[in-house]
Amino acid sequence: MNRVKTKKKMPYKKLLFYGVDLTHNDIAIASGTFPLGLAYVGSAIKKKFGDRIVVKLFKYAEDLEEHLKQEIPDFYFFSNYIWNQNLNLSFADLVRKKSKNTLIVCGGPNITRIREGRKNFLAAYPFIDFIIDSEGEIPSCYLIQTYFDLEGEIEKMKACRLPSTLTLLEDGEMLEGPLAPRLGMFKDPSAITCPGHSIAPEFFSDLQSFDDLPSPYLTGLMDKFFDDQLYPLIETNRGCPFSCSFCQQGTAYFNKIAFRRLDACVDEFKLITEKMTQQSPGISRIEIADPNFAMFSQDLEFCEAIRDIQDEYQWPQFIGCSTGKNQPERILNAISKLMPDSLVISNSMQSANPDTLEAIKRKNISLEGYKKVQLEIHKRGLRSMADVILCLPEETKESHFNAIGNLIDSGVQEFTSYQAMVLKNSDLEQEDVRNRYGMKTKWRVLPRAIGNYEIGGVDQIISEIEEITVETNTLSFQEYLDSRCLHLTTMIYHNSGVFDIIHRYLKENEIPISSFIFSIYKKMGNAQNPLRPVYEGFIKETRNELFDSEKEALEFYFDPKNFRQVQLSKIGGNLLWKNLAVTLFSYWPQAVQVCLETLDQLIPIEEKELADLKQYLLARIANISYREIEKDITIEIQSEKLVRYLTDSEVSNGGTLIMTLGDHKHKTLSHAKTIYPDDPTGWSLILSINRVHTVTRDIEVIVA
Ligand code: SF4
Repeated sequence: MNRVKTKKKMPYKKLLFYGVDLTHNDIAIASGTFPLGLAYVGSAIKKKFGDRIVVKLFKYAEDLEEHLKQEIPDFYFFSNYIWNQNLNLSFADLVRKKSKNTLIVCGGPNITRIREGRKNFLAAYPFIDFIIDSEGEIPSCYLIQTYFDLEGEIEKMKACRLPSTLTLLEDGEMLEGPLAPRLGMFKDPSAITCPGHSIAPEFFSDLQSFDDLPSPYLTGLMDKFFDDQLYPLIETNRGCPFSCSFCQQGTAYFNKIAFRRLDACVDEFKLITEKMTQQSPGISRIEIADPNFAMFSQDLEFCEAIRDIQDEYQWPQFIGCSTGKNQPERILNAISKLMPDSLVISNSMQSANPDTLEAIKRKNISLEGYKKVQLEIHKRGLRSMADVILCLPEETKESHFNAIGNLIDSGVQEFTSYQAMVLKNSDLEQEDVRNRYGMKTKWRVLPRAIGNYEIGGVDQIISEIEEITVETNTLSFQEYLDSRCLHLTTMIYHNSGVFDIIHRYLKENEIPISSFIFSIYKKMGNAQNPLRPVYEGFIKETRNELFDSEKEALEFYFDPKNFRQVQLSKIGGNLLWKNLAVTLFSYWPQAVQVCLETLDQLIPIEEKELADLKQYLLARIANISYREIEKDITIEIQSEKLVRYLTDSEVSNGGTLIMTLGDHKHKTLSHAKTIYPDDPTGWSLILSINRVHTVTRDIEVIVA
């Protein structure tokens, strides 16, 4: 019998792709979100190359170290954010030492726009084969297809000028490829060009829109991150129509918006909710990465769908996001659909000084418009927050203080005070801009972005450093320090929301809340002020956290003696959150005393009523530094007026109040105590992630 020989198809070798977006987690988790950016890159790669490539994602250094002991990936792609650059670079260096053939690619926004700086970066880290300088999915797939086409010859690939990449040749020349269009921004795949190695345009015909990109949650790529520590991050659209000069997204490249289909977003949200409630019951937060959430028409329907999910699962309790800078009516309508208090509307301001706004190319709505929006927010029972940035070009101490006062009096419940970071790839990074505004900068460690890690079997202390502006030709360093003291005052006495009751007294007497805040601020230098130790410590730490160069800061924290101080929570934290935490959990009676003395000076109040107010305010805060968190406290209130203010009910002769955290807050805090250290750094993390309202007791029952 003749045997017919059939040509046997040889199985191809599966290649291994690592997507690495680490968080520092030695002191505490510094960046607690799921690694969405690289997960999307992984999704694109799975879609284009199917079983030929196994995709693995990493968030924790110890997980990566363990895997690298067993296997070396063929493709090692890592992100470069300001909060993980040095940690990620250290592991990339290790991979190169273990393997010459691995294709090592770095992406992410933390890369300078200045050509010389880019070249220096590549020269300083020669183990990087390519930098992807833009949205990552299309360039990543192009790189990998070229790797296959050129049989893994990386030097040949470097000469091709691949789309959206930078690379350094052996002779020191830096080659840049043409910028690939973003997903959703091209109709014809032939718009993706490459001078040295073309791929048939059809290759990208199924990867043109954001919707062509499978959700990494739905494909299971994110499964390992449901670990009861991290919280999910999602995107419903990409791009921002605004052009703020301090922001990397404020460039023409990001100006158009790419949307995902609503049903895909809803399916993803539902699956995340199911997994979180089953596998991560202690985490009640999700983050939406859209730069302008709720500003677009489809966001209304998305919020309605989220509400259905919230009603069914009681999850998420908190949605972190940056809401839109325009279309206030549309935003309010959308947010009103959500579970009450689960999303805080952000009304970004950055500055109220017209000269500053012009210098940073930003337009704000008018203060009057702002107040109207706040009124509407209050009417609908929503919460709002804003942000201001200290040390922007043309800002003065007076204009900065005015902006804060106006924000407070506009009714905004909370605001964040940032320092002007000099972000890579933003206008503020440019030399001419620095000179024009007399920007003097310093370097400091990013809070919690430091740790001792085993890398290739060797312990290394690694830290991440940011550059911030501390002086300009319109604001001196002393004024910078004064402004920081005001920021701390607003954190304690305004943003925390703990003192809302005081606002009722002020309002009834037509005294602006800002007068109360500025009165407290002015007292902080008084020798008898019981809260002065907190402020003195804060100013000392604010000075001491600054270094004259990145190198100096890195060397300081590399010293085990100094790193030990970080571990002990003595240095290196977010000073505003840390000192808020210290005030709430170590100086709370003193903070209440300062509040009541100030109130009494502005509005004379009877002693009996002050005593009742004191009782109430002391009971407001649940001290998380205690071994057991006390859930309920009962207090007796004599003052009719106070009971009326607190309960909006007419009760004569005072009453007995039961103040409680409630089951959900108690559970959240009890879980948080198992994740974060019991020190000011841990407390400040619990506050910043779960918000201050999680540690405040509310009135549950009043017995007349
Ligand atoms: S609105 Fe926000 S995301 Fe958009 S450019 Fe300005 S700061 Fe950047």
